[in-house]
Amino acid sequence: MKVLMMTDLEGVAGVVTFEQHSYASGKYYEEAKLLLTAEINAAIEGLLQEDVDDVLVLDGHGPGGITFEALHPVAKLLHGRPSAPDRVRNPIFAAYDVAVIVGQHAMAGVADGNLAHTQSSRHIDSYTLNGKLIGEIAQFALHCGALGLPLVFLSGDHAACREAEALIPDITTAAVKQGLSRNSAISLSKEASRLLIQERIQLAIQRQREQPLAPLVWDPPYVLEKRFFHTDSADAAAQAPDVERVDSQTVRLRGDDILTLIYR
Ligand SMILES: [Zn+2]
Repeated sequence: MKVLMMTDLEGVAGVVTFEQHSYASGKYYEEAKLLLTAEINAAIEGLLQEDVDDVLVLDGHGPGGITFEALHPVAKLLHGRPSAPDRVRNPIFAAYDVAVIVGQHAMAGVADGNLAHTQSSRHIDSYTLNGKLIGEIAQFALHCGALGLPLVFLSGDHAACREAEALIPDITTAAVKQGLSRNSAISLSKEASRLLIQERIQLAIQRQREQPLAPLVWDPPYVLEKRFFHTDSADAAAQAPDVERVDSQTVRLRGDDILTLIYR
């Protein structure tokens, strides 16, 4: 089995504030990267226990969330921004069998979601796809689903795990912290978090071998609404010819191909 591993910084134990941990200017940003890298390494140790040794790690955090020097020797890392085009990335993703996520946060607007946001913490109020609120978990799961990969494991805070389970009821999760508010949480220790991730991802692979989860696919046609905090963001988004303006802060996009729509 070949595993595609999305990663993010805001769902890692010990990472708790945007200002200090998540932004590249943060006082503890470098430490936060080491914490994510160690959680990734724990996940890879769990995969190795299941004889999975082909792991492509995706750095999903805007300014970079991984300390390359500290990354597990088995891991290959896909990184760098701006991202390569989808026509380059999608065939690479499609060569993998299953997808997992390490370090995920909940969608924007979730009260107990520590560091909850959708794509841009400074600009996006909400994404709605076919009438359902979605966040980064659904975006990645649907993108991978269209490429034939089921999302079988997620680690993050409790709210992110809950969001994943609502989307994919039989997914295996590992909650490494309990969000109390947007910039406050109760984290497990780094040791407890890493052990939990290692054990749970191992279980996810075992479950996938016994009773495989299907890739997540929603039926087209798709209507994606993006609501911004500020009108100028909506002004910019509405410049594209295929984008409808819904109201001062919201735009709407339509399409039948989830791959070209979901990350717009
Ligand atoms: Zn994120």
